[in-house]
Amino acid sequence: AIIATGERGAFALCRPPGHHAAHDMFGGYCFLNNAAIAAQWLLDTGFHKVSILDVDFHHGNGTQDIFYERDDVLFCSIHGDPKEAFPHFLGYSDERGQGVGEGFNHNYPMPRGTTFAEYKISLQHSLNHISDFQGNALVVSVGVDTFENDPISFFRLQRQDYAILGEMISSLHLPTLFVLEGGYDLKEMGENIVSVLRGFERSI
Ligand code: ZN
Repeated sequence: AIIATGERGAFALCRPPGHHAAHDMFGGYCFLNNAAIAAQWLLDTGFHKVSILDVDFHHGNGTQDIFYERDDVLFCSIHGDPKEAFPHFLGYSDERGQGVGEGFNHNYPMPRGTTFAEYKISLQHSLNHISDFQGNALVVSVGVDTFENDPISFFRLQRQDYAILGEMISSLHLPTLFVLEGGYDLKEMGENIVSVLRGFERSI
């Protein structure tokens, strides 16, 4: 709630994660879609349009599903190619939204071994969409299972990359809520999350 009262940033430490929970389905350890609930709450509190950026390694199929036919929530997700990665059945780049929601859904499936140099290009595309959308707030589904040592994923992001990720998100100058999603290198994930938040904070 603090970003509704004018704070620039907030972090919600949620367990379990939420972004695989759809309106009529749970999955991928998720029961309640925290990011979607937060976005809807922001809309209900008077924000007219809200963007959701999903940087977890896995596609946020639940979040996509919930807002797929709506134009008041823009959804962008950068994730492991669903041909090879969970959730498999959604997350392809031709899923662009439906009805009035058409054009408000953007997926960036990325191949095995993706480094930050490649990742950053999709991130910048997503940020451009978010900027063009002119929403009033941003919810970030932040997972750090994109980390090079993550045991269940196949990207190659490094510790220092997370600070840049945070800085790039901060460059949108939007009230931003970070909602924790996945991350399975338990020894490193705390530091990686802190890097994202520090990067964000540094650029406020
Ligand atoms: Zn994940």
